[in-house]
Amino acid sequence: MLKFNYHSHTNYCDGIYTAEEMIKSAIEKGLCYYGVSSHAPLPFDTDWTMKNEDLNQYVDEVLYLKQKYENRITVLVGLEIDYLPDLESFSIKDESMSRIDYIIGSVHFLGKLNDSTRWTVDYDKKEFEKGIRESFDGDIMSAVKTYYKLIGDMAETIEPDIIAHLDLIKKNNFGNYFFDDSEVWYIETVRNCLETIASTKSIIEINTGGVARGFMTEFYPSDRILREVLAMKIPVTISSDAHTAENVAFGFDDVLVKLEDMGFEKIHYLTENGWQESDIRSLKWQ
Ligand SMILES: [Zn+2]
Ligand SMILES: [Zn+2]
Repeated sequence: MLKFNYHSHTNYCDGIYTAEEMIKSAIEKGLCYYGVSSHAPLPFDTDWTMKNEDLNQYVDEVLYLKQKYENRITVLVGLEIDYLPDLESFSIKDESMSRIDYIIGSVHFLGKLNDSTRWTVDYDKKEFEKGIRESFDGDIMSAVKTYYKLIGDMAETIEPDIIAHLDLIKKNNFGNYFFDDSEVWYIETVRNCLETIASTKSIIEINTGGVARGFMTEFYPSDRILREVLAMKIPVTISSDAHTAENVAFGFDDVLVKLEDMGFEKIHYLTENGWQESDIRSLKWQ
C-alpha cells in the first residue's frame, strides 16, 4: 500500500526520538515515503524549535539516513517553518535550505504578550485566554481573523509545499468555548483564507497529530473546512505530525476513509521527483 507521512519531529526539536528511530518505525509500519520535518530554528529562544547551530547537522543526519535506508524507504528532508511576518525567517535564507526537499509552513505565533514575548496559539487554554486578553484586548474575533490572514499571507509569500494544521486556532476551542465555528464570520474568514491558498501551489494537510496526542477529538482541518477545500479543488495530503515513533502513521487509514466518503478522489504525495497524485480509491485497495 502506498503509505506516506511528511510531517514528523525528532529530538532536534520537541520530539523525543532520533530521526533514525522515527524512520525505523516508519519502515515497520509499511510507509513508502517518510519526511522528517523538525521545527526550524527561530531568531529567539523556544523550548520546541531546533537551535540554529544544529541546522546543518540535522540536514547531514537525515541525508545520511536517506542513503542508509534507501532500499527500504524513501526518506525526504524537510523543515516545519514558522511564518513571522515582522521577522524574515532567517532559516529560509540559510545555505542548508538548498538541501531541503520541502517545507511545511505554520502559524503558531500570533501577537505578543504584555512581557513582550510572542504568544503561541499552540499552548493550553489558560495561555490562549491570556493571549486573547493581552494581545487582542479580549477580542477573539480579531485574533481568529488575524490568524487566518497570516495563513493566507504565508501561502502567498512563501508558498510552502504543505500548509500545516490549517485550523490550529481551534485547538482550545472544544465545545465552542471561545468562538462558534458555525457562525458566518468564521466560515467567511476561513473561506477567504482558502481562496488565497487555492491561488497558490501549496497543499493542505489533514493532520492527525492533535488527535494522536490527545488534544483534539477531530483532525485539522474540520470536516466543514474540508468540504470547502474539496469544492475549491485544493490539493491535500495526509500528515501525522508525529512527535513519537508510535505515531508516525497515526490515523492514516481513517483519513483515507473520511476523504473518500466526502468525495475526494485524489491525494498528493511527495517523491524524489516532486509531488505526485494518486487516486484515493486505488490507494485503499493496494
Ligand atoms: Zn506545528
Ligand atoms: Zn509539527
